[in-house]
Amino acid sequence: MNFEHYSPTKIIFGTGKLKKLAEFLPSHLKRVLIVTGKRSSKENGSLSSLQTSLRKLNRLYFLFDGVEQNPSTQTVDKGTYVARKEKVDAVIGLGGGSPMDVAKCIALLTNNAGKIEDYIGGKEPQNTPVPIIEIPTTAGTGSEVTQYAVLTNPKSYTKAGYSNSYLFPSIAILDPELTISMPYKVTVNTGIDALTHAIEGYLSTQATPISDTLALESIKIIKEYLPKVAVNGKDIMARTHMLYGSMVAGLVIAQTKTIILHALGYPLTTFYNIPHGRANGALLPYVLEFLKDVQDKKISKIIEMFGGKDLDIIKSFVNELGISIHLSDYGITQDGIPGFVKDVKGRVNLKVTPKKVLQEDISNLYKQAL
Ligand code: NAP
Ligand code: FE
Repeated sequence: MNFEHYSPTKIIFGTGKLKKLAEFLPSHLKRVLIVTGKRSSKENGSLSSLQTSLRKLNRLYFLFDGVEQNPSTQTVDKGTYVARKEKVDAVIGLGGGSPMDVAKCIALLTNNAGKIEDYIGGKEPQNTPVPIIEIPTTAGTGSEVTQYAVLTNPKSYTKAGYSNSYLFPSIAILDPELTISMPYKVTVNTGIDALTHAIEGYLSTQATPISDTLALESIKIIKEYLPKVAVNGKDIMARTHMLYGSMVAGLVIAQTKTIILHALGYPLTTFYNIPHGRANGALLPYVLEFLKDVQDKKISKIIEMFGGKDLDIIKSFVNELGISIHLSDYGITQDGIPGFVKDVKGRVNLKVTPKKVLQEDISNLYKQAL
């Protein structure tokens, strides 16, 4: 046995935890930037709840609420302008993966000169970021416990993950109540994202005994509770399990990265605007089929956990959540495939995929999925 495991984030989990912020927020943090999306945190009350807690604690807060879905590097730079101007000493990300990822990058740039593109391009940060506190309101990305931020480059029109151990949040506050307001589609898209994290982590060449244990725990939970939250979004018990399961899947990919499935999903989001998790869900059965010869034991284990005999069980699971596994249903045709292949080849996810991936494999996978 030979592995490393690094999970530095303090995890605070439980219903009502946001209201108890006073118990967790270090007293030396006085000027806080809240990073959030444009609407949902205002509509579901999570933003005002956070602001009330900060006011009660006599902390100054500033708001950057300009984060869009699949956020761009420019959005990070805009938020950084506020953080630097106000000399903040902590950044709180409140929302789904999009604002949580932007919050990480702003925290890094608060203490380091330049733009986020410099660091994505290979520049090493000289200083640790200001503390990052993440409060997820979706149950999907696990970003609250990972060292990744996924950003869209508006010039090259690609989505790329930036990975740096400085981006691990200091504190993750997981309050299942905040996820209740997710509408059906967001619930399902984000839930499938979490499932693919657990499955890809389980199959990654970087998997460890600890990450495998966590991956199986996460798959088991999501398999059971994602159909439940899909049917009844108000089921707090099921929401609680989903938030837990997605966080555990985040702990997995922090060790293992994601593999070919996430690489294949990114261009579907940038070119066709298919939500991140939905794109992964649509391609999941084909990727499992592709990897079956090299990971037969692990894939059979997944099939068994879903209660099936072959990969049809995964197809039905995804279908029953209303996610089509046919790319033509999303308006994609054969003509789009060369552009996707160009986007996918060379991605770091392929390096941790347990099989050599040829350019024609990428193309064939998309063709099968049409
Ligand atoms: P998201 O882009 O953060 O949010 C999707 C939508 O859901 C937005 O319209 C958002 O509204 C809304 N929303 C969020 N929480 C809600 C709630 N409680 N109630 C109602 N609506 C809510 O989606 P996401 O799937 O969580 O994050 C996806 C991003 O994370 C992608 O860019 C993906 O690549 C990245 N990602 C990162 C990691 C990582 O480890 N860092 C891992 C996987 C994926 P508002 O915009 O108005 O808030
Ligand atoms: Fe993901």
